[in-house]
Parts: sequence; C-alpha cells; structure tokens
Amino acid sequence: MSIWKEESFEDKIYDEVESFFNIHKLKEEEETLALDIIDSLRDKNILVVEKDDNNCGYLIPLLYASKDKENFKGFLISTATIFLQNKLKEEIDKLSKLINVDIPVTIAKGHVNYVCMKRLEKYLRSHQENKTLNEISRKIEKEMIDKEDYPNISNEIWININVNGENCRKCLYNKECKYYLNRKSWPNASYGICTHDLLVASLKRKNHGMFQEPSILIVEEASSLKEIVVSSYQGIISKKMLESLIQGASYIIGDKELKTDSIKVINTFYEKLSSIIKSEYSKNKDSNLIDNKNVIEMLKDDILILLNTLSNFRKSVKFYQSKYTELIYLRKKLNDYVNILDDMIGSGSKHRYSFYFQSNSRGLVSIKYERKDILGLSSSLLADKKYGKVFVDSNIVGNDDYNTFIESLGLDKIDDIEIVKEYSLGKSKIKK
Ligand code: SF4
Repeated sequence: MSIWKEESFEDKIYDEVESFFNIHKLKEEEETLALDIIDSLRDKNILVVEKDDNNCGYLIPLLYASKDKENFKGFLISTATIFLQNKLKEEIDKLSKLINVDIPVTIAKGHVNYVCMKRLEKYLRSHQENKTLNEISRKIEKEMIDKEDYPNISNEIWININVNGENCRKCLYNKECKYYLNRKSWPNASYGICTHDLLVASLKRKNHGMFQEPSILIVEEASSLKEIVVSSYQGIISKKMLESLIQGASYIIGDKELKTDSIKVINTFYEKLSSIIKSEYSKNKDSNLIDNKNVIEMLKDDILILLNTLSNFRKSVKFYQSKYTELIYLRKKLNDYVNILDDMIGSGSKHRYSFYFQSNSRGLVSIKYERKDILGLSSSLLADKKYGKVFVDSNIVGNDDYNTFIESLGLDKIDDIEIVKEYSLGKSKIKK
C-alpha cells in the first residue's frame, strides 16, 4: 500500500517514524521535527528550524519516505561545505542500514574539486617526474579524482589540472571522463547532497535545473544561503575580461581590424574611468564616499561608445555563430556585458554599481555590479510550490532571529505558502 495515498499517508509514515523514535529512545524534540518534516512533505510548506548537530530529526522521515518509490521523488539536501556533505552522506548510509532502505546518494560538488583528464595529460607532459600525478593518471580512467583525496597537492599544481571552465561537450575524452559522466548523472539522481552554490545555480536555471525536482528540499546551515544568492547575482567587468573576449572572438572570425578598433575603445574607456576614480579618491580618501552615480554620469558618453562598440562587435560575431560553437559562449558573454552597460546608463537601473582597483592591474579600475532587488530574486528562486522546503540552522535562536532569517531570503514575500517556525531544541513551536 502506498504511503502517499490520502487514506494511508498519515497512518503509515507517521506511525513508522514515531515507532523508530520510540524504539531508539531518541529525544522528543527530534521526533517533533521528524513529524513536522512529514507535514512539509505533505503540505509543501516552508519549515524554518533551529537545531543542533544531530540530523536524525530530518533524515529519518526522508529515509522512510524513500520506501515509496512510486510517489516519493526523492530529496535534495544543500549544505555549506564539502565536509558537511561527506558527514551527511555517512549519516544517511548508517541510518539507511538501520531502517533497511537502499539510498544511493549522489554528492554534487563544484567542478574545481575534480581533476580534468585533458588538463592533467597536458600538465604531465612537462612534469613527468611528479609521482602523485602519475598515480592519478593511472587511476583517472576508472574513477573521479577528488581534491580531498589528495590534500598534499599544492594549489599551484591543482589549478593546472582541475576542471576549470573547459568545454566538456566538445572534449574528445567526454565518453570516458568519469567527472563528466558523473556530472551528467545529477539530473537523474533521486537523492542528492549539493553545495549551496550548486543549489542556487540550479534554481536559477528554472525548468532546466541541474538536479531532479525533489519531493523536499532541505537547506542545512541555511543562514549562509543569503550570501550565496547575493554573490550569484554579482559580477565584474574588467579591462582584461573585455580584451580577452574580443581577442578570442577576433581570432576565430579572423578580423584583426575589428579587434584593434575595439581594443582601442576599451583602453580609452578604462583609462578614463581609472583617472576619474583616482581623482575622486584623492578628494575623499575613502572609496565608500565616492558617489558612484556621479561617476557614471561623468562617464555616460564613454559608456555609450563602449556599449556601441561591443554591440557592433556582437553583430559581426553573430554571422559566424552557427559554424563555431565556441562563439556561442563568447557571444553570450558579449550579450551580458552589453546588457550591463545599457543598464548602467539607462533609467530604472536594476543594478548597483561600484568601482575598485583590481590587484595586478597597474592602477586600472574595474566595474562591479550587483542586483538591487535581491530579496525579490531570492524569493522567486524559493517560491516553487511543488515541493516542501526546510531551512535548518543552529544560529536561529529566538523569534526575532526567525523573522530576520525569513526576511533575509525574501521568504515572507512568497504568496500562498505557509511558513512554520520551529524551535527544535526543546522549546515551543510557533506558526506565522
Ligand atoms: S570532459 Fe571535461 S572534465 Fe573531462 S577531460 Fe574533457 S574537458 Fe576535462
């Protein structure tokens, strides 16, 4: 009998979870949390919970729910660090054995944590004496090579061999590359543990998320999620970035003249921007006091020239787009920069802008942008009504903290979803 059918849902899973907590004599507040997790699965509400390091309270109901293969689509747990991902996986493996369920958990980490076969092969050509890299080279055809298994590899070497923005789809190794094959399996995994960065990146893709839509999302260490959401909407436009984009695209389309003209405009723009910022800085001696709106106003004509130059360049690149897939990426980047520059001088700008001296840039200033409406954006990322969401953190201790946390992610702006706040450390539960 399915545990999810209306007549059996409550009877079956609530009973099973209650009896587990009785048999194992676990804390009452953990049991209360477990039962509320089942409520969230059923009601697709938002549960905000203060709890300690013990994860039994939310893992047990998920494991029992996984018995219903037909109706429980799975869970996605997002957490702040790789250490916590591994710890959770160990706990799930241990509890699964107790409950006698099979939960094949997929851990999703950022690409920079893995070795790229292609880059390793290239690096090894000039570093054949390195024993560890030779060992990795022998293993990499059979398994993914994770940074945490090789803590002695220096960062200097790691950044030469890790997966780092390569175009895997075009790579000759992609049929055998264990990293790529694992990455491709994420959307089919029913039980996932990802980092907050990957969760936010996936939510931003809307209908083409990196993970399968779960029956419930658990966000561990939830107070650190806001920072990740904010930084996912931030960006930088530096002289170097624009130059390498123009150089890369010009090389493919073979237009040296267009490259020279565009680079000249970029140079002029950044020199002028840097000189304005230096002069403002010398007046105020504090970069926080520089009036960024005023700087944009002073540079309006130059921004327009740069915008038109990049737009024209984009048009030239468009002609070649169908022939060279590499250009699709470059054109997308060009689009992003054109949109930002347009936003910068348009009325009703969506971004806040600031300027700063980038290290190793010989005194040149870069543009930094971030979204103004971050609460609205965060709220829409988390507004999916098709599954329950549980936010867990040990730093939410009082009612004021709950409200601050809820507002910090824009959860209070989501319509038609009940928010349940729970003190699971032996305190009372309150409803909004
Ligand atoms: S598929 Fe991607 S990660 Fe794998 S070897 Fe190729 S470029 Fe590297």
